[in-house]
Amino acid sequence: MKTVSTLRHFFTLCFCLSTVSFSLLAQSNSSPSPEVLLGKNNPYLVGEHYQLHKEAFAALEKMKAAAAKEGIQIKVVSAFRSYDRQRAIWNRKYVRNAAEGLSPAANRQKIITYSTLPGTSRHHWGTDIDIIDGNTPVEGDVLLAKHFHHDGPFERLRLWLEAHAATFGFYCAYPNTPNRTGFNYEPWHYSYRPLARTYFRAYKNLPLKEVLQDSLLQGYQDMDKAFLNAYRKTHINGIAKALK
Ligand SMILES: [Zn+2]
Repeated sequence: MKTVSTLRHFFTLCFCLSTVSFSLLAQSNSSPSPEVLLGKNNPYLVGEHYQLHKEAFAALEKMKAAAAKEGIQIKVVSAFRSYDRQRAIWNRKYVRNAAEGLSPAANRQKIITYSTLPGTSRHHWGTDIDIIDGNTPVEGDVLLAKHFHHDGPFERLRLWLEAHAATFGFYCAYPNTPNRTGFNYEPWHYSYRPLARTYFRAYKNLPLKEVLQDSLLQGYQDMDKAFLNAYRKTHINGIAKALK
């Protein structure tokens, strides 16, 4: 009987420990899994019209309300983006550029001016947003830096974000600062720092070469170690200091 009771205690203890470790894993600020970092599976997403990590979503709601008092309607153009979606964007551009005669190296170099390789987008994390001012609609392409400057339709939004976004935890990921490398200046792209910094640090440990072994990804055979190392250094690390 004693053995049975000891065993029962043992199993109860195991159950309790596994419950504790599961709840620790489920904590959103713990180190994210590779699936979450790569945009392949994210259990923390909420939202209907766009999806974000629940904590980033709540912070954005507060920021929206504050901006609305100043007559600015923060409108999300892009939020969470899955690996598959990013691959579709990449492949569409790659096929078009190849048809224009670009070599594999020139092709990917052209795409990474603005678009990321699938598996490397900050939008995979549910922590990043592209935003405009919904009160000042624009025809055509909305995500152009000129709209955010020189009396452009989103200049008020930019100035407001530069003054107040950090209060809500949001930072421009690709600011117009000297010596920043990689993606062009994107005054519309903001990251929710309390999560995004943890994700960025966890991301450093992912083996990019393995991640990109995807036979459905255009040009993946040509992505050698030298290119990927350079891409990591200039592009993935080419973000605002506050987000590192
Ligand atoms: Zn973006």
